Amino acid sequence: MKTIPLLIDGNFANSDANQFINITNPANNELIGKAPCTTELEIDSAVDSAKRAFESWKEVPAPERARVMMNYQMLLKKHHDEIAEILSKETGKTFADAKGDVWRGIEVVEQAANVCSMMMGETAENVARGIDTYSYIQPLGVCLGITPFNFPAMIPLWMFPMAIACGNTFVLKPSEQDPFTPTRLAELFIEAGAPKGVLNVVHGGKEQVNQLLNHQDIKAVSFVGSVPVGQHIYKTATDNMKRAQCFAGAKNHSVIMPDANKAQVLNNLVGSSVGAAGQRCMAISVAVFVGTTQDWIPELVELLKEVKPGLWDDKEAGYGPLISPEAKKRVLTLIQQGKEQGANCLLDGSNFSVAGYEEGNWVGPTLFADVTEDMAIYQQEIFGPVLCCVSVDTLEDAIALVNRNPFGNGTSIFTASGAAARKYQHEIEVGQVGINVPIPVPLPFFSFTGWKNSFYGDLHAYGKQAVRFYTETKTITARWFEDDIPTGPNMTINLR
Ligand code: NAD
Repeated sequence: MKTIPLLIDGNFANSDANQFINITNPANNELIGKAPCTTELEIDSAVDSAKRAFESWKEVPAPERARVMMNYQMLLKKHHDEIAEILSKETGKTFADAKGDVWRGIEVVEQAANVCSMMMGETAENVARGIDTYSYIQPLGVCLGITPFNFPAMIPLWMFPMAIACGNTFVLKPSEQDPFTPTRLAELFIEAGAPKGVLNVVHGGKEQVNQLLNHQDIKAVSFVGSVPVGQHIYKTATDNMKRAQCFAGAKNHSVIMPDANKAQVLNNLVGSSVGAAGQRCMAISVAVFVGTTQDWIPELVELLKEVKPGLWDDKEAGYGPLISPEAKKRVLTLIQQGKEQGANCLLDGSNFSVAGYEEGNWVGPTLFADVTEDMAIYQQEIFGPVLCCVSVDTLEDAIALVNRNPFGNGTSIFTASGAAARKYQHEIEVGQVGINVPIPVPLPFFSFTGWKNSFYGDLHAYGKQAVRFYTETKTITARWFEDDIPTGPNMTINLR
């Protein structure tokens, strides 16, 4: 059993906290570690350290900062399996899926190593006679990241590498449910050559987050997590005059057209609905069957029956346990409500468990047909291995349904028709759209662009939008006199 250290001013050390949060193995709920509720003094030292480090880090030329990211991506690749094992053991994710979690973070670090070209400003010569205008991009200062449990590698790596590559310093508050992985990421970042104070990591829950949100030296806040917490963080951060981007919950629909390839649709629905036990913000949780495609549901049920949840190192396992007993209880309550509200439960994973690990947070694949918009299983994010099937008559009905939903993280359409796909991509009010691609998470040279209740803010994660989020633009208008001929005072706003 290990106590998670803090990273403050380049040193990993145990906290002076007198309160700790238990970290448990989701497969059997045995205690595997403790995360400190960082003291107020320690949080102040972490922010102070980041503030001091900013004074020198912002002067480090962008190519040198990029080189730290190059070292870092190399170290992450070298330790890929080791990080994935740590991640599997604390989240329950299968090893293959944990490797994917780490890899999608490495891709962002590769992009951060490209920061120089992304930090170029604009120039225009002779905007008025003898006057040129050009802009530079400069870092903000100390930035804060608050991350969720479900991607303990990828989501911290969405944040601090881009912020730091842009010349900022960073304080990370990872999820208290799986902080081993972010701690390892931080160790490797120091090994990659990050100077002390450039990245600080503190732990805890809402008290620690609230202290950070109220700290006057924090300039920008990135958050990923649930809707109520995202709303609270966005409001508090912006009330405190900080820049904020808050990525929140989701309810992602996949629309199935009659001309789609049935085998591909069914396989994709299985992986994207129950993969990672449905604990992905881009999981497909609603399948919208258009016209006769609802006849495919019995075959989908048979495929889902073949998926066996299991331990992280069981190569046959399709996915692992839910993160906590509370998460399992929430999912089971929603399954029960689905039955009571009249949905047709064709596959019920409520009583599933793995032999020898009966105490774990297991839920088997679950499928509801005949789901309607008034039901709790449709309205709420379940965040479990539960697929809700809705039937509609036409593509127009499917688009209207998806657009009525308050979430807008991701959606997909399966079709062989370019015209149907084009109509869907154009009319759908969702930020990330897959065409015959079930989970359309963009690569980091684009940005992660959720909409509506899935995102509060304007500039999104990674890619060019992250550079804009983590920087200020300075625009310079310059004239160099070739002679000493006085022009007299200019009493107007015009340049001359
Ligand atoms: P969560 O909101 O419970 O916790 C996220 C972070 O906020 C944690 O670090 C936690 O310590 C902190 N926190 C929790 N309660 C707080 C409070 N009252 N005040 C201040 N801070 C608080 O989320 P989670 O359960 O860890 O993650 C799952 C959620 O994250 C799901 O809703 C999922 O959809 C969402 N998510 C969204 C995206 C996206 O990109 N939109 C990506 C991943 C996860």
